[in-house]
Amino acid sequence: MTEPDTSQLYKRLLNQLVAHYSRLLLAVWILIPLALIVYIETEQDAFRLYEDYPFHVAAISLAILLSGFISFVSWRSYLLSGEPMLRWITLGFLGFSIIYAPHGFLTYTADSNPWLFLLYGPASRLLMAVCFFLAIWKSHQTADAVPQRMRGWLPALFIFLLIDLLIALLAYSDWRGDLWLRLSMEMIAITLFVFSALWVLISRRHNALMLLYAVAMFWFAQSSLSFILGLPWNHQWWLAHLVFAGGFLLLSHGVVQVFLTTGSFSKVYTQTELLEQVLKEKLQADAAMDKLQQANAQLEHLASTDSLTGAANRREFMQRAEQEIARVLRSNNNLCLLSMDLDHFKKVNDEYGHQVGDEVLKSVISVCEHVLRPGDLLGRVGGEEFAVLLPETAFDQAMIVAERLRSAIEAHQTQCNDIKVKCTASIGLATFDPEQDSLNALLKKADDQLYQAKNNGRNRVEPQ
Ligand code: GH3
Ligand code: MG
Ligand code: MG
Repeated sequence: MTEPDTSQLYKRLLNQLVAHYSRLLLAVWILIPLALIVYIETEQDAFRLYEDYPFHVAAISLAILLSGFISFVSWRSYLLSGEPMLRWITLGFLGFSIIYAPHGFLTYTADSNPWLFLLYGPASRLLMAVCFFLAIWKSHQTADAVPQRMRGWLPALFIFLLIDLLIALLAYSDWRGDLWLRLSMEMIAITLFVFSALWVLISRRHNALMLLYAVAMFWFAQSSLSFILGLPWNHQWWLAHLVFAGGFLLLSHGVVQVFLTTGSFSKVYTQTELLEQVLKEKLQADAAMDKLQQANAQLEHLASTDSLTGAANRREFMQRAEQEIARVLRSNNNLCLLSMDLDHFKKVNDEYGHQVGDEVLKSVISVCEHVLRPGDLLGRVGGEEFAVLLPETAFDQAMIVAERLRSAIEAHQTQCNDIKVKCTASIGLATFDPEQDSLNALLKKADDQLYQAKNNGRNRVEPQ
């Protein structure tokens, strides 16, 4: 018995070890840019420049093209799912495309007014940080309604173009060279990126795409840090572009996955989650099936029993009696039928009311069921008329059963509140003749005997 315990312990330890390693991997992924930033900061000369305008224009153009494409892909997914998170991711990419574009095509103005092209960088990152923060903020909200999904895009486009204009004005203002301007934009962006990433890690780690989102946010934050530390055209500055591109590619991978699968960022599952989901659905389906089977059994019971007394109803009795007769015809066994009617039952109703009458019917039937044997079948075939089928029972035995029934009913007293009611029953007995009887003929014979019993004074068994 100790063997499985050891292997369980080993399995648990291994699981914990792998989980820790996975966290370590995540930390490494998050901090790769920091290692590069520190390397450039400590090992490179800040005044070593790589001033290549065409290369810068080409790189930024490629980034804008990609960003425009990803904005479109994200927008299409948003239109499909209406997920508020995707709306803000789309706005982040779109805003970035529009605000970052001048940073590329104004590269050649760097000689006359470097601020004109430099300020578009931090502004675009700040806008992205705000949008991606709002994406997380809104990630718990329900999907937007379909008509709402097309709204707001043109105003947003207009606002982004306005920001472009404002930055151009800023680049010609007296504040353009102030360090605080660039620094405050980058610092706010860093704060928002880190906050969004931590928020995901703390609350939504289980989703693989959300994890990717968090890593991308950390990379964007570190790109802003690299931009703060760098000087235009030096290696730190180029690294800042590269780290930003890394974050951008990670997030665009997420958007592509969303587009190719569910169209919803928060509902893309890992394989483990999918398996768990399938298992959960299966359990739910099994439970629903059990419930359905129970409901069916209940329905069947309701359809075959009399609701007042719980005895088989007329339809059920006739059906089972037919089956019994078919069996008797095959096996040549004996079969008897009792037809039973309560005596002067109208009086019970007249004297005590219909409700008491009902109680008497119920309790008389429960007495009968105690007296009868397991194979006997009792059915309520009329108001206070009952039939009892006695399979594999010869006349003598049937007589004993009938007499037992009659005397048990006579001895029984129904207590209903303060009222005590006694009643009797008359019983007609018929034996089944395989040569000439059908079920109806058998019932008719028993009814005739019942009629005789009534005529002969009631509270008696009248055999055929
Ligand atoms: P007898 O059979 O001895 O000739 O007299 P009886 O008074 O019992 O006459 P009969 O069998 O013709 O009358 C049946 C009465 O049973 C009439 C009806 O009011 C009553 N009855 C039938 N079904 C129900 C029921 O479900 N609940 C109650 N309380 N009474 C019922
Ligand atoms: Mg009666
Ligand atoms: Mg009757």
